[in-house]
Amino acid sequence: MSAAKKPAADKTVTKKKTLALEVIARLKKEYPETHCTLAYDKAWQLLVSVRLAAQCTDKRVDMVTPLLYEKFPTAAALAEAPVDEIEEIVRPCGLGPSKARDISKCMKMLQEEYGGKVPDTMEELLKLPGVGRKSANLVLGDVFGKPAIVTDTHCIRLANLIGLVDNVKEPGKVETALRKIVPPEEGNDLCHRFVDHGRAVCVARRPECGRCCLQDICRHAQEEAKAAGKAQTKTTAKAGEKS
Ligand code: SF4
Repeated sequence: MSAAKKPAADKTVTKKKTLALEVIARLKKEYPETHCTLAYDKAWQLLVSVRLAAQCTDKRVDMVTPLLYEKFPTAAALAEAPVDEIEEIVRPCGLGPSKARDISKCMKMLQEEYGGKVPDTMEELLKLPGVGRKSANLVLGDVFGKPAIVTDTHCIRLANLIGLVDNVKEPGKVETALRKIVPPEEGNDLCHRFVDHGRAVCVARRPECGRCCLQDICRHAQEEAKAAGKAQTKTTAKAGEKS
């Protein structure tokens, strides 16, 4: 990178850090209580839930997991469970065979390599079958209170709309970009609040900017307002020509 370009890049990061802090403050006010939308009591149950949540709603996952834990109440019991019995229960979440297989392998690995405990490092979590960065971040943040950025669909969409990242869609890249501008201790809850806001106001394909607490600082809302202003000017000019 040339010496001339570096200050501009630094300036952009500084601006985004300021924006991130403002977004965090406003979303905290809007959603003072926030938490993971998946129900779980134990760390291993969160691992099961995040695997089941792939291409499935959290609501459906939360309907299925009580049945699973009734039959297999511990990680050890689930590790011993026949895969087809797991599959029969988790089938409503879709992708039954692969989810059941991953859950079984993951629980087995917990028993055999981690003494039945969920590990607390990204490196170890990523070794577990069916656990990707998003799930690992969720476990690190929610269970262990470690810095985490959970790049689910809401996080990626809102970070781009608001202007915290610039047209970055790949989850790993969004995570890297957000880690540069979000204070580590705020990342996990910010991502939960992105989910809250993405469900309540900034809904996919029809964000309700008019009633959004971020409207005056959100890039998308500002671009929309600018476009509307231009359209209005054109209409007024045309009306003037005709009269
Ligand atoms: S202003 Fe609109 S686009 Fe921006 S976060 Fe709010 S609802 Fe979403």
